Amino acid sequence: MSQGDLDPKDWDAFRAQAHRLLDASLDKMLTASEGRVWNPLPDTLREEFNREIPREGSDTESLLTQIMPYGVGNTHPRFFGWVHGAGAPSGVLAEIIAASMNVNAGGRDHIAPVVERQVIRWCADMMGFGEAASGLVVSGTSLATIIALKVARDQALEGVSKTGIANSHLIGYTSAQAHSCVKRAFDMLGIGSEQLRVVPCNQDFEMDLTALQQQINTDRTDGLQPFCVVGTAGAVNMGAIDDLEGIADIAETENLWFHVDGAFGATARLSKYAKDRLTGVARADSLAFDFHKWLQVNYSAGCVLFKDEQAHRKSFSDRAEYLNSKSRGLAGGDFWAVDYGPELSRGFHALKIWAHLAEHGTDALGASIDRNIELARYLAKRVEAEPKLESLAPVPLNINCFRYRSDTTDMNELNEEIVFELQETGVAVPSTTLLHGELAIRVNITNHRTQESDMDILVDAVIRIGDRLSA
Ligand SMILES: *Cc1c(COP(=O)(O)O)cnc(C)c1O
Repeated sequence: MSQGDLDPKDWDAFRAQAHRLLDASLDKMLTASEGRVWNPLPDTLREEFNREIPREGSDTESLLTQIMPYGVGNTHPRFFGWVHGAGAPSGVLAEIIAASMNVNAGGRDHIAPVVERQVIRWCADMMGFGEAASGLVVSGTSLATIIALKVARDQALEGVSKTGIANSHLIGYTSAQAHSCVKRAFDMLGIGSEQLRVVPCNQDFEMDLTALQQQINTDRTDGLQPFCVVGTAGAVNMGAIDDLEGIADIAETENLWFHVDGAFGATARLSKYAKDRLTGVARADSLAFDFHKWLQVNYSAGCVLFKDEQAHRKSFSDRAEYLNSKSRGLAGGDFWAVDYGPELSRGFHALKIWAHLAEHGTDALGASIDRNIELARYLAKRVEAEPKLESLAPVPLNINCFRYRSDTTDMNELNEEIVFELQETGVAVPSTTLLHGELAIRVNITNHRTQESDMDILVDAVIRIGDRLSA
């Protein structure tokens, strides 16, 4: 029996407690479709987490179970806000195994790098990146984007990691619908967020490629150095997919690094409805996407992929002496994650991703994405059929932006209030966004638990609340 200072004093009691907490977790997941979507935190619970660090330990079981109802609500079928995955019970089991092994997946010769490599190879296959692709499991698309654009930057400017960015004139391009993480990456990489040109969109909210080409021409004439273009596969506002093949053509002739932000959209390559519009993902030099959104892996889990393994490794493989690998022993192994990203110590995040992909298979994951797209189309039909509602954007994928119409009230204020009430009454959680200055009720469906009946409950509630507020 293990008797370290911090091991349980009574293993039998610990085992019984573990089983109780596992049962509480299973019950939580079993009832994920019931009750309110979002529960505001009671002040008493907030107070429990406003204490000084304890000198003496105490039993945490009670608080661990008390917090369970107070998550974001994204496990519930009527969570439609932002872009959140719903998770799956299988993820819990892999997390228990990973926690008990407590590996450090930064490098060396053990099972974690082998599992991670398997995940990367599967993803390269799914995204059309080919056998020679490189990649890394990361916390999400935000970090994946920083890693990808660092490699793009390093490829464009010889020696930039040593000399810094000073005196360079790097310019990148993305669309007005791009996620803010692209701008953040430009900032964090020292390129400067203003060196990211925001290319306008066409009426379908896709990057205007004529405008892109003109901007590149202008920048070259001005003596600047265009180095990369970031396309979006599934924009966060309303799901637009840029013309990725068209961007790839321009990137090729202009010799620009082509990065794709496919946070949720790229995984729709598994969907019969979307795969034809996502062929251009395979032409990217790098791709950032998430497992925790449309693939339903429990948070947090994302991925960055590269076509050119050497370029990827060159940007991160400057190891210190004490980290040198050996030909034998534990310091062997040919894949050290530390050579491919900024983190050294890291958990065994690849395990839950592997378990999820292995348990469900790509057919079921793709079918689940198909059903979400069908639900978004069903909602579009319902909005169209209701005279009191109007659509504010096309529905190319899984996001539906609409609003309640009123001749008497400020529609932006009214629809904002409708969304507050939906959230606060626990009926549903959409978010809002602005499209051409109009506030939309934004319904994103990346949830394998959502049914048609949930769409009906939402539409009926919007009309009921809208009628009352505008009466
Ligand atoms: C969610 C999202 C991001 C950010 O990804 P994280 O996993 O939250 O870091 C970037 N781009 C798009 C299009 C997204 O939907």
